[in-house]
Amino acid sequence: MGREALILPLRLTVTGVRGPESRFLGGIIVGDAQRELDYKVAEVSVLFTDLIAASINNAQLLQKLNTLSIQDPLTQLYNRRHLIDRLEEAIRQADRHCQPLSIAMADIDFFKRFNDRYGHLCGDAVLREFSVILKSGVRAGVDIPARYGGEEFLLILPFTDLHGAGEVSDRIRRAVEQMMVQYDGLKLSVTCSFGVTQYQPGESIQKFIDRADEALYTAKAGGRNRVYLAE
Ligand code: GH3
Ligand code: MG
Ligand code: MG
Repeated sequence: MGREALILPLRLTVTGVRGPESRFLGGIIVGDAQRELDYKVAEVSVLFTDLIAASINNAQLLQKLNTLSIQDPLTQLYNRRHLIDRLEEAIRQADRHCQPLSIAMADIDFFKRFNDRYGHLCGDAVLREFSVILKSGVRAGVDIPARYGGEEFLLILPFTDLHGAGEVSDRIRRAVEQMMVQYDGLKLSVTCSFGVTQYQPGESIQKFIDRADEALYTAKAGGRNRVYLAE
């Protein structure tokens, strides 16, 4: 009596920038190598493997699509649409658990100069570097940094009161001031301003964001490279 096992490779066809490519994921072993393998079992197992591979492929595509729909492609931060969803969720949580919630609106100072003097790609490099500092300056998995508009960013800071949000913002402001963006042999310094405010229970999301925006305007009018707290 022969001893057989059927080893089925799990292959995925992934379409990337270089066209479709086959990727080996692993294998499934059917049978225990002690018994002779039934032809029908082998046939069904092959079909089954194809099905699993297709399902994994679909799940990966779906995940990619989901990421694309919530992420800003330049900075890899959340985009504005997803930010609004997350802020609504944070407001619900703050209301339900009577916890403080703050936001900080950040805007790069004189950003237009980077574009005008060194070109749009330089402006893009500044936005990317700024985003790295922003992301590393907040609590991963708790705080939510997002790109609000062109060179405007919004930080959602759950469980954080106005004073705490001011401290976080000022720490990021100092880190940005310290960084040097390297572009085309140049070393560029960047500064930014923040408008910070705490959620007032019952107020609308628009009123909340508008207050952060007004605070940012005050920070700009006060000379830039500063954090302004709206009571
Ligand atoms: P302020 O200190 O008052 O904030 O001045 P500013 O120059 O930063 O502000 P302003 O609003 O005048 O300029 C923002 C510029 O950002 C204008 C717009 O062309 C540019 N911008 C918006 N999105 C992008 C982008 O994705 N990449 C680049 N390179 N520039 C962008
Ligand atoms: Mg600006
Ligand atoms: Mg702006």
